[in-house]
Amino acid sequence: MRTVVDLTHCQGYAQCVFLAPKVFQLHGEEGLLYAPAVPDDQAERVRQAAAACPVQAILLGEEVSVDGR
Ligand code: SF4
Repeated sequence: MRTVVDLTHCQGYAQCVFLAPKVFQLHGEEGLLYAPAVPDDQAERVRQAAAACPVQAILLGEEVSVDGR
């Protein structure tokens, strides 16, 4: 699974950071950092984060990578 955060919409509410801290991190003034290639064991957490984002800034792609990259 891949994820993209629309940083023009992200308000830094950090729900995603609490739900999937291995994928989303807030770094002070830099704002939100994230891993676009979501590890399989984080996929469910990222889905929950996308659902919880108050501004729907987290976009998900279900493109499957065979070798985990
Ligand atoms: S939950 Fe949404 S608004 Fe909040 S930091 Fe994550 S992407 Fe940004």
